[in-house]
Parts: sequence; structure tokens; C-alpha cells
Amino acid sequence: MELDLRLEAVHEGILVTGTASVEVTGECGRCLDPIAYDLDVDVQELFYYADADLGQAAEEEEEEQRRIEHDSIDLEPVLRDAVVTSLPFQPVCREDCKGLCPECGMRLEEDPGHHHEVVDPRWAALAGLASNAADDAATSTESDEREES
Ligand SMILES: [Zn+2]
Ligand SMILES: [Zn+2]
Repeated sequence: MELDLRLEAVHEGILVTGTASVEVTGECGRCLDPIAYDLDVDVQELFYYADADLGQAAEEEEEEQRRIEHDSIDLEPVLRDAVVTSLPFQPVCREDCKGLCPECGMRLEEDPGHHHEVVDPRWAALAGLASNAADDAATSTESDEREES
């Protein structure tokens, strides 16, 4: 992690501003390919003096107030929060990643048109039941209303 930070003495404490550059590694949420890229994150945090009066309003705030402790500041949780919140919730290798086939797990990218014939007749029967059930569900609300009136 590379840091380019500026520390300023302000009235309430020390204001830390700057950027953190990190290399992010993970895997694509669709195709499981490894992902690695560089990420720059803006950092801004005010560390309060240990004896600073935060006032009534600050005490009611849910957000945790960072403090200067023993003449030092702990940047680790600040950096962790800044980086983690800027990571994508569902990382993908590319926005248009097609992912894996839910049937066989092969990359759809390599063969986008491929599909699976249902070869087992028992599964075919189940598929028929499923679509009948869906039709029943769609029509049953109408018949219920008729019965009530
Ligand atoms: Zn992918
Ligand atoms: Zn497949």
C-alpha cells in the first residue's frame, strides 16, 4: 500500500487527508477468474485530541470519533474502512463478463450459444409439471375471486 498523506494541525486535533494506492486482488463473481487492479482511495479523517470536547452533537453521532492516543494516531482502521467501502460489492473481471453455464460450468464466453438438451425423460416430466403449476398459480387467483362473489 502506498500512502500520500498530509497531516494538518487543526483546532480539534489532526486532520489527515490524502490518497492510498492499493493493489486489489480477488476473483470474478461470475466466472471465478482472478482479478487484480490498482485502486486509489481518497482518505480524510480528523483525529481528535484525547481531551477535546466533542460537544453534545458529536456525542450523539453514531459514527465513531477517532482519537489521538499517546501522541500517535492509528491509521490502519481509517485506511481499511476507506478501501473496503470503495471495493465493488460483486467484483467482475469485465462489466460484460458472461460467467459460467449453470448446467455444466463451462465459460459461456467460449461458446455463447451452447445449451443443454434435456436427455433424461424424468426431468422432462418434471419440467412439464413446473410449467403446469405456474399456469395454475396464474389462473387460481381469478377463480378464487369468482367463488367469493
Ligand atoms: Zn468474469
Ligand atoms: Zn453448459
